[in-house]
Amino acid sequence: MAGTIELLKSASLKLSYDRLSTETSLEARLYRNSRTFPATYELDLQLWVKLVQINPSGGNFWVVDADNNPFFIRPWKPQDWSNFIDAANRQADLWNDKFWLKPPNSVTELDIFDMNNGLWMRPYIKCTLTTYFGEVPGSFGLRSPHRVVEVANVDPSKYLNPGSFRSHALLYSEKDATPSVATWPDNLGVSHSFTQPVITHEIGHALGLQHIGVMRKTAFCKVAELNNQESNPLQKTLFGGGWNAAYCYGYGEAADMADDIMGAGQKFSADDAKPWNWSALTMFGPGFWTTMTAYPGFNFSAVERNRIRR
Ligand SMILES: [Zn+2]
Repeated sequence: MAGTIELLKSASLKLSYDRLSTETSLEARLYRNSRTFPATYELDLQLWVKLVQINPSGGNFWVVDADNNPFFIRPWKPQDWSNFIDAANRQADLWNDKFWLKPPNSVTELDIFDMNNGLWMRPYIKCTLTTYFGEVPGSFGLRSPHRVVEVANVDPSKYLNPGSFRSHALLYSEKDATPSVATWPDNLGVSHSFTQPVITHEIGHALGLQHIGVMRKTAFCKVAELNNQESNPLQKTLFGGGWNAAYCYGYGEAADMADDIMGAGQKFSADDAKPWNWSALTMFGPGFWTTMTAYPGFNFSAVERNRIRR
């Protein structure tokens, strides 16, 4: 049996900026691969994040980072740029094969009847991500990028640079190719070291995800949210910065929270599968899609279907 890879559904998502998501857009494609039996399904999110060099020019030798601190920059060399793009691709790829979705009871159109055991089988849909950082193939069908991100090449020889550069969703630096390390206390005061591939985290924002404490609505992150006025004395503490406060990254929470990719670490939890969930809801309408963060070991689960046929 030859079989095919078939595009079943596609959707363009536009997300607003609120507690549920950052302002962003992305494409979603649902494929069925019937080269295998049973067929396998894949929900691929497609994101065009155009990376643009910032080079010193016209007497401008510095950029300001996420904390509004000025940093001296130097020109990009072609080899360094190409290394950076390679690192960006590797870090974006970490979003692949982390989640599987099971359709809700209301969605039966993907089910397959298995004649061998007389059962209806419901697929687990593999979640994948395709990211383009430069130009995109014509078949992609988009004229402009979902997001344009500038990348600074911070000059480490300038001693005036104030500490380490902090990237944000629209500004990366050459250092993001190297994972960042934070040593933070958990909820019991025990200190842990968390390592994060920074571009992977920023791609999470590009997919519409907020920080882990925002998504999980923690009390500390909520305090940061409510005290996000410039004159508020809490701004000079770890509560400062609203949804970007350390507490919204999982500082002082159980360690698995700060270790999340949308915290200060590198783990992927069901919360981080939201962009795939939103895409499935856009394609199929309301319903509860079950998220799995580990491959269940087989492609389908047997389901009870209403025996009454119309
Ligand atoms: Zn962030």
